[in-house]
Order: sequence, then structure tokens, then C-alpha cells
Amino acid sequence: MKSPGSRYASRCTICGKPARVNMGSSSYCLSCYNHIADYLAEVETPTNDDYSILALDSEGRTVEFAVERFSFGSSSTWTAVEQVPDDDPRRKWGYVGRSVSIVADARLMSQEEALDALMVKTQRVTEHASMRGTRIEAGQIWSTTARREGEVLYANETGVARIDCSEEGESSIVVDGQSFTPAQFAELLSCFEGFDLYWQVRDATDEPPGWL
Ligand SMILES: [Zn+2]
Repeated sequence: MKSPGSRYASRCTICGKPARVNMGSSSYCLSCYNHIADYLAEVETPTNDDYSILALDSEGRTVEFAVERFSFGSSSTWTAVEQVPDDDPRRKWGYVGRSVSIVADARLMSQEEALDALMVKTQRVTEHASMRGTRIEAGQIWSTTARREGEVLYANETGVARIDCSEEGESSIVVDGQSFTPAQFAELLSCFEGFDLYWQVRDATDEPPGWL
């Protein structure tokens, strides 16, 4: 099995920072890779790739995101990645954090406009609670494994989830930043037994649906 740090095993050929992109025999950090891709596409490189976004969740808590840009030449994917420290107690319950993406064409959208659009979408996604917790009282026994500290979890009527796959090929579903196995995800929905489930899969960079 690969160690959790294996994605950073190689170093950027240009600056020596941990590499994120491998191209043939060369590896690059995101910043150096973006500079090369922007240069080849003859688009202006943003002045600064280091931004953070603060958004409020459904309970008014501040959620901090770091912004990552991935250049594909004339267009870039901008992603807000929630910062979850390694020692965050929620990690015990599978909390991996939210991520929100948009795609922006550098010839149609300035850096400020792209960041603005990312901020609006990040707030919209973060403030929508896709699940809720029910307190476990002392002495109660719950069969569901979809839980977090002192609470069992159930899906809300509408929600958004990210479909993920680990390096080991195990699929998971991330709801409100918490990762669930397919079986746990089914347990999240068990409160709606007998109802129909409609779904629609969207690209991570697409506009969210109207109800969000
Ligand atoms: Zn570099």
C-alpha cells in the first residue's frame, strides 16, 4: 500500500517544491506547471496563486478554504479546498473537507472575476446542509454506522455529494465534507425508506442546481 504522502514523493524539477504534476520524466509543482501551461497558451499568469476563501456553513461556523488553480492553457480550474489540519478531531469520523470548483477561460474572465465566481459558489455550497445529526442519548443503541461524535447522521431531503475514489480503488461519497462508504451512504438515506431517489450527476465545475 502507498503511504499517504506518496503523492508528494517527487519534487518539482524547477523549484524543488513537492510535485503535483508529472509529465514524462519531469515533475512540477502546481505553480511552475501553471506558469508553463499559461506561457504555452499565451495567456497572462495570475499575479498570485495563493488565495484563501472564508465561507459560513449552515450553522454559521467559518470554514476556511485554500484556492488552487490548475491551468489547462486558455482555461483554468479554480478549486477551493477546505483546510482540515491533520490533528482535527473530525478526521476520526472520516472528515476530509469540502472542495468547490469552477472553470474559467482566461480570455473571458479576469483573475478577480474567477475568484469572485469561486467565492460565490463556495458560499452557496457550504451553507447548504446535505445531512443532519441526531444526538445519541446515553444508553441508546443505534445500528447505523453513519455517525460522528455523539450523533447519528441522516440525509436531508436535498443534498450534494462528491464521488471519490482512493488510491487503493475504494469508492467513497463525501457529504458536507465527511467521507462515507457506499454502505454508510445508504444508511444516511435510510430515514427515507420507501421513498424514491432521483439523481443528477454534474461535473464538479458546473453551476449548482437551482435548489442549492
Ligand atoms: Zn515548482
